[in-house]
Order: sequence, then structure tokens, then C-alpha cells
Amino acid sequence: MKKPAILKHEFVEFIPENIPDGVLFISLKFATVAHTCGCGCGKEVITPLSPTDWQLTFDGETITLYPSIGNWNFPCKSHYWIQNSKIKWAELWAEHELHGDKDILKKMGLFAKKTTKRIAKKATKKRHKA
Ligand SMILES: [Zn+2]
Repeated sequence: MKKPAILKHEFVEFIPENIPDGVLFISLKFATVAHTCGCGCGKEVITPLSPTDWQLTFDGETITLYPSIGNWNFPCKSHYWIQNSKIKWAELWAEHELHGDKDILKKMGLFAKKTTKRIAKKATKKRHKA
């Protein structure tokens, strides 16, 4: 997976259908910014610009988006900031990962219990047959 260090930006009227990795498309007309997920998974991220959504800062060279981009509904669940056209990974992510691991461990524990029961049943049946 490629992680572009510095994002390019293009001011456009319409957001193109295919968004290449590492490019921020900015439509001032529709107050929308579009890019592909910073992790490189290729999912499109559309961020509407408004006082209650995202705010865009263009310093003449680089783009900053505020607040952070949290792709919770993507399989990658990536969370990062776009600051001066650079992707900065959110520090909280480590915690989310940890929680995810705990859930998985819990599920695995349940699974293990169920499997053990099933195996135990099978074993019992076999014993009865025999
Ligand atoms: Zn992603």
C-alpha cells in the first residue's frame, strides 16, 4: 500500500469520477473536497465544506482540512489529519486498534468455547455409538 507523503491538490469545478491516489480535488463551486483514503485502500472520501462540516485552509501552497478525517465506515477504519497537504495519522488510532483486538479476543474466546462444546458433544456421541 502506497502512502503518499505529500498530497497534490487540484481546484476543479466538478469532482472527477476516478480520483487518483494522493490528489485532493477541491470544488469551490460545490464546496466539496474529495480524495482517496490516506491508507491507500482506494476508497473515496468526500468531505463537504461548511461551517458545521470541514473547513479548508489554502495557504497558497498547501491544503489543510479541519477537523480530522475518520473513515470509521471503511474496512480500514483509518483516522488522520490533512495538514499542509500531508497526512498525519491520528494518535488515538492505537487505542482503537487495541479495543478492536480486545473484541476479537473476546469473540475468539467464545468461538473456542463453542468449538470445545461441539467437539465434546461429538466425542460423547462417538462414545455412545461405540
Ligand atoms: Zn483506507
